[in-house]
Amino acid sequence: MSLALRPSFGFGDRLGLATPGHIVVVRQTNFAPVFAQQSVRENTRTGRTPQQVMDDAKRAVEVAKWDLPWGADADHLKSVEDIPPFVEAGYTFFTIDPGEYVDNSADTDSLDVLKQKVRSTNWEEVSTFYSNQGDEQTWGPFDVELLMRAVVKYGKVIQHAAMMFQYLSQMKDEFDFEISVDETESPTTPLEHYFIASELTRLGVRFTSLAPRFSGRFEKGVDYIGDLNVLDAELAKHAAVTAHFGTYKLSLHSGSDKFSVYPLIAKYWGGRIHVKTAGTSYLEALRVLAKYSPDLFLKIYSLSRECYEIDKRTYHVSAQLDRLPSTNDLPSLLDDFHAREMLHVTFGSVLARFGTELKETLGKYETAYLEGLRAHFEKHLQLFQAQV
Ligand code: ZN
Repeated sequence: MSLALRPSFGFGDRLGLATPGHIVVVRQTNFAPVFAQQSVRENTRTGRTPQQVMDDAKRAVEVAKWDLPWGADADHLKSVEDIPPFVEAGYTFFTIDPGEYVDNSADTDSLDVLKQKVRSTNWEEVSTFYSNQGDEQTWGPFDVELLMRAVVKYGKVIQHAAMMFQYLSQMKDEFDFEISVDETESPTTPLEHYFIASELTRLGVRFTSLAPRFSGRFEKGVDYIGDLNVLDAELAKHAAVTAHFGTYKLSLHSGSDKFSVYPLIAKYWGGRIHVKTAGTSYLEALRVLAKYSPDLFLKIYSLSRECYEIDKRTYHVSAQLDRLPSTNDLPSLLDDFHAREMLHVTFGSVLARFGTELKETLGKYETAYLEGLRAHFEKHLQLFQAQV
């Protein structure tokens, strides 16, 4: 079933062993959980299928007797071919990543180039529809040039998302549908956000959440990097856009460890949110190893160091290997910015070589893992809890 507009929280679980911990912590909140959640990119790297991810989550749900609604998120779907295995495995939440359809040069194209480019779009219809709109709105008015830039930049994104929605609608009656542009090159302005939401609505796409790309950096597994005052002002405008439509939630991707941002998200959106965390449950597993199985941890750590430069290419991270701390206190590495990011993005290489050993060892320290996950996510959820 769909979670619709309820506040929801996505827990990625790359090992298939973290759901018991997620259940313990989400029980204390009003969030609707998404227990199964893996992107196509993650499945490729972990060698798991959508069905296996689903089975791991289901098993934990049954054991823990979780009887409230929960979701399963097919994350960062790029093309229609990605969809069927997730539908067959019973996923309920579909996140479309149309990032490759963004025309990033639209931000800087000359007027002449823009005029050329809009010829192949539905410009006439769009310019008629949006003229005289938004003059008194927080996100600002469209002048012809801004509208052209938006059409060129996001026109194909909107078409692709609509096509994915139609495809899914033929396979399923009820589902959550999310559009994520969080991994695009430039931030989504509030005006662009308005344009995307408005066009999707016009095309009859019923989406439950939207993930814009905000300014500053939302890197994996670490706190926000950027100016919080600038972000605050920007979020106020995005919140005006979502309030205008009132039909979808704000989705925060790379949502783990963004402790300085949560109060702002809670302030503007209250419970109208979806928060996505992906790899930090894997980092908590490594914390257990650092404490109880230092030899295995060190093997994993040095493999991560070897693979980082290559593995990081499809992720937004800025950790530098020459800034890794030298310490004998292994668990403290899991609190270091550089080590955290390095370990976060190298999971595929690590699981290919040490996956079996890692899971076996973790099985011996189930209670410690549960406790680590509880502490980690409690810190996240507490910052939202007053609002949801
Ligand atoms: Zn994302």
